[in-house]
Amino acid sequence: MTTNESGWNFDNSYARLPNIFFSLQNPTPVKEPKMVIFNKKLAKKLGLHSDEMKAELLAGNEIPEGGTPLAQAYAGHQFGHFNMLGDGRAILLGEQITPDGNRIDIQLKGPGRTPYSRGGDGRAGLGPMLREYIISEAMHALGIPTTRSLAVVTTGEQIIRETMQPGAILTRVASSHLRVGTFQFAANWGKKDNLQNLADYAIKRHYPEIEGENDRYVQLLKGVIKRQAELIAKWQMVGFIHGVMNTDNMTISGETIDYGPCAFMDTYDPATVFSSIDREGRYAYGNQPYIGGWNLSRFAEALLPLLHDDEDQAVKLAEEALSEFPELFETAFINGMRAKLGIFNTEKEDKTLISELLNLMQKHKADFTNTFRALTSNQETDLFKEEGFTNWHEKWQARLSRQEESKEASQQLMLDSNPAIIPRNHKVEEALEAAVKGDFTVMENLLQVLADPYAHTQEQTEFCKPAPPSAKPYRTFCGT
Ligand code: AMP
Ligand code: MG
Repeated sequence: MTTNESGWNFDNSYARLPNIFFSLQNPTPVKEPKMVIFNKKLAKKLGLHSDEMKAELLAGNEIPEGGTPLAQAYAGHQFGHFNMLGDGRAILLGEQITPDGNRIDIQLKGPGRTPYSRGGDGRAGLGPMLREYIISEAMHALGIPTTRSLAVVTTGEQIIRETMQPGAILTRVASSHLRVGTFQFAANWGKKDNLQNLADYAIKRHYPEIEGENDRYVQLLKGVIKRQAELIAKWQMVGFIHGVMNTDNMTISGETIDYGPCAFMDTYDPATVFSSIDREGRYAYGNQPYIGGWNLSRFAEALLPLLHDDEDQAVKLAEEALSEFPELFETAFINGMRAKLGIFNTEKEDKTLISELLNLMQKHKADFTNTFRALTSNQETDLFKEEGFTNWHEKWQARLSRQEESKEASQQLMLDSNPAIIPRNHKVEEALEAAVKGDFTVMENLLQVLADPYAHTQEQTEFCKPAPPSAKPYRTFCGT
């Protein structure tokens, strides 16, 4: 069998960039590749044939026909500190041209060391790779732009972390892996030409409508600012906490990337942090929009030489573009929250109505997802009995009556905007624990309900409960 029976249709444009942007690097073969999960639906969209897909191909033991394995160079601010990074445990196999003409990166995560590995072993553990699979696919089903997961294979080798763990490789699928950090790398270690090559490349891939325009670099900056404002607003709307919003984990495409220490918030509290390494709460839920703005400032800085030949003018253009971020975020957030509350039209006081609800939720430690679920289906929850809530509810009902749309239309909007189910931390952990012991059924059930979060079906009820109060505070680790 030739590998092309799998349906690979590669055209590797990134490999044609100046060679400072990557190092050609083959994956290191593993002992005994075994497919543990394969995303057939996604494979079909990519033009890949599920039945012909061998574990060897997604473990790096065989290179798919037309692939140009390489590790990408990038830099990044990690918790505010600037570092040279690069794919230390990821290898891009190539860009799959899909049947509908899209160009999609196919990347292995955990395939062995690369020239950028510095200290690490280039490998990944089964738990963290399955966690990325579950959460990225859940994000996609929630309607949030994200990298996707095609498969997880185990390697037949153990890796050393706090304990020994089964090694695994995730096949990550993304509209590209260009990051703010890729531009920081070009600005710091490349010539101006290299930066320009990269910017033109990013425009061609993600903002083709501005190709050839004179002010295309300012427009690129504005485009990324807009997509990131909208993305982070979507995170806020479902209580998603990324956990490691370093500039190397912010994409130019506007997709969510890097599911390391991320988790979903149960009880509404803007100070919520899950990551064990985020001791100062830099990446807390309520801080995400500010960090988004901070990261975009780093992007603007990297782009400065392209914005204008005169440095002062360049800075002015960058500041102008950046000043749009808070309003873009707020508009996306308020509009999204309106939909969550069944509101179609706009009134100036909506912002107050929304923040009053959030304040009540915080004060009474209400579950974020279930509060909106209860409002959608008119079910009582504890919050409904609290002081101040009746008042708010009356205000909300009065607000709903000030729009033309029917009550039914309003409820439908709420059903479509409020997920019944999110990947609850204790449910994800339960699935991972079973999977690491060899039982994948718990995970498969979870993936099935997560695939349709707006269905509001009876079977989903069991997955809606927050962790029991006796559970220890949830902590996530980087999963390296
Ligand atoms: P990540 O958490 O995957 O975004 O990793 C952040 C940086 O650390 C990237 O430059 C990775 O390539 C590098 N890194 C993380 N884990 C490993 C590992 N096990 N081996 C080599 N490099 C790693
Ligand atoms: Mg990363």
